[in-house]
Amino acid sequence: MNLPLIIRAEEHNEKIAIVTTDGAFTYRDLLHTSSQIATSLLQNTEDLQEQRVAFLIPPGFEYVATQWGIWRAGGIAVPLCVSHPRPELEYVITNSGASIIVAHPNFESILRSLPPQASLTQEHNLRFILTSETLPSNIAPLPEVDITRRALILYTSGTTGKPKGVVTTYQNIQAQVTSLNTAWEWTSDDRILHILPLHHIHGIINVLTCALWAGAECHILSKFDAETVWNRIYDGDLTLFMAVPTIYVKLITAWETASKERQKSMSEGCAKMRLMVSGSAALPVQVLEKWQTISGHFLLERYGMTEIGMALSNPLHGERLSGYVGKPLPRVEVRLVDENGELVPGETPGEIQVKGPGVFLEYWQNPEATAKAFQDGWFRTGDTAVVENGNYRILGRMSVDIIKTGGYKVSALEIEEVLRTHPDIQECAVVGVADLEWGERVCAALVLQGSQPLTLQAFRSWAKERLAVYKVPTQILIVEELPRNAMGKVTKPTVVELFC
Ligand code: AMP
Repeated sequence: MNLPLIIRAEEHNEKIAIVTTDGAFTYRDLLHTSSQIATSLLQNTEDLQEQRVAFLIPPGFEYVATQWGIWRAGGIAVPLCVSHPRPELEYVITNSGASIIVAHPNFESILRSLPPQASLTQEHNLRFILTSETLPSNIAPLPEVDITRRALILYTSGTTGKPKGVVTTYQNIQAQVTSLNTAWEWTSDDRILHILPLHHIHGIINVLTCALWAGAECHILSKFDAETVWNRIYDGDLTLFMAVPTIYVKLITAWETASKERQKSMSEGCAKMRLMVSGSAALPVQVLEKWQTISGHFLLERYGMTEIGMALSNPLHGERLSGYVGKPLPRVEVRLVDENGELVPGETPGEIQVKGPGVFLEYWQNPEATAKAFQDGWFRTGDTAVVENGNYRILGRMSVDIIKTGGYKVSALEIEEVLRTHPDIQECAVVGVADLEWGERVCAALVLQGSQPLTLQAFRSWAKERLAVYKVPTQILIVEELPRNAMGKVTKPTVVELFC
């Protein structure tokens, strides 16, 4: 038996699946190219047997065909982030134990020059494939891949240590996708504009896989650009749009600076769509209201997480409430518990815990973290919420050390670890500070040492080299000492106040 996603694609053969600046690709194209890629990955073996295949390809048809090719060859897809610097890429490749890397030629040099490349290649027998290589014309017999097998590893930041690899099976992905397709009534007539990163659940599952599962069209932009998005909205015949709040803020800014005439066409373009969704971070009410004035759409806000897929959503039909993320999605069970793991009464805040077929299998090769993440079969999200009149309202992360910036989760502890390697920095505290555009901004309070004064400019260029672009603190404060509680522990809420 083929994977259900593949069987469904076969039913849509001549329909358009992917549209990019390179043209339109049908489901048949996707099936054919992905079977060629699978053949090349298999290299005369029968089944990759869950070997990890890391791939670094800009958003587009090649990305999707490679992801499907890995799945059809029985491998586990490990998407790499196109904007990550070398250390992050190296970490994911090493941690996942990838045995094959598929790369677009643009990324060849960065990947080939990974520092311990020699040891990587020897230890893991790392095979390197470029997407520019000619694909085989004879398709090999492809393995039967059971849906209980592992399909995908996405890396996500936790409160402690390095990012963890979240492993989902085909069954988990299928449950995540069918839940959303039912709730938001996806059909093969839908056309969605894809502007999200393809190493994160929002872009991979909610947009790409939901579209392809439904037999819909997915129009992929290789990178986000507000003007291009607006052009596509008012030129095109899109039906759906999904983004993080930061993107809506950027689109609002672009609308505000457009001429009156263009503003009118932009708004008319939005009116043609059937649904616009926001998620991955809290949607500020002002942004929701502004977007409603511009587009006529009351954004549908939903809540989810890499480990669980989407859990809560405002309704497609019926009243959506601003500041709320609605109710549990189909086949998702949600409960709120106190610090002892007991259900909270009435409208008391508690930790969100989730159960259901969409919940991930495990953290990659980390049974201890996996065990800690569950309580009696319920996944502990680490987010707090309250239920008011049957609707959930998110109150925030339980850990101040997880910063949500531009829809990405960033570990404050990880950034602090890097900052502490600076010879002039004695101590530091990294916090997220509320921000309308970014959700939270990464800010760092530093206590200096040594006789040389550290200039902000010198610090910034040092930090830029060592931290991924989105992790470089946007605001830096030099302080005499960090605020602490009676136990001598740095009090992060007080550090946050320093920036406000
Ligand atoms: P990620 O795994 O990167 O998708 O991040 C998941 C986290 O994003 C959740 O645990 C929440 O902290 C946050 N999140 C997702 N959706 C929302 C939302 N609608 N409102 C507030 N926070 C959200």
